[in-house]
Amino acid sequence: MITTRSVTLLIFSLALASCSAEDKKKPVMETRTEIPAEPTGKVVKTDAEWKKQLTPEQYAILRESDTEAAHGKVYEEFKHQGKGSYHCAGCNALLFTSEQKFDSGCGWPSFYDPAKAENVILKKDVTLGMTRIEVTCAKCGGHLGHVFEGEGFKTPTDKRFCINGGGLIFVPAKEEPAKK
Ligand SMILES: [Zn+2]
Repeated sequence: MITTRSVTLLIFSLALASCSAEDKKKPVMETRTEIPAEPTGKVVKTDAEWKKQLTPEQYAILRESDTEAAHGKVYEEFKHQGKGSYHCAGCNALLFTSEQKFDSGCGWPSFYDPAKAENVILKKDVTLGMTRIEVTCAKCGGHLGHVFEGEGFKTPTDKRFCINGGGLIFVPAKEEPAKK
């Protein structure tokens, strides 16, 4: 019989397990040590090929336009990442760098501009009863998130590219400048 106490203990031990050192080593945003090779043209794959290549989380975001949980593990990781570049987990295209990263507090990785304008496509999205601008990868068509403008952020563009970190690959910069 499952008692309240045993459930409480179970939840507590799961919480402990999720904080273990081993778990911390396993990032939820894919990270690589080397910058992946950029695609030379459009990347076209079948659904079956994408399913095989991507993790279930990456597939849900990139191919099914899913939105990851706000203030989730990916966002926590993102906040603590240093300098580096962010690439499409579907096709490796360079999308953002830490130069354009800013803390919007919205719960999702935020950038004020893409690293390469030609690597993203912006299109009107009228799903969920809202009119938003969807951001997709120009090379593979993967869904990345949405962009909002004129919210009053003190950034060079006052745009907020609100991006699902789970659809990105982070490559830390090789040399961090010495911190004082
Ligand atoms: Zn892509």
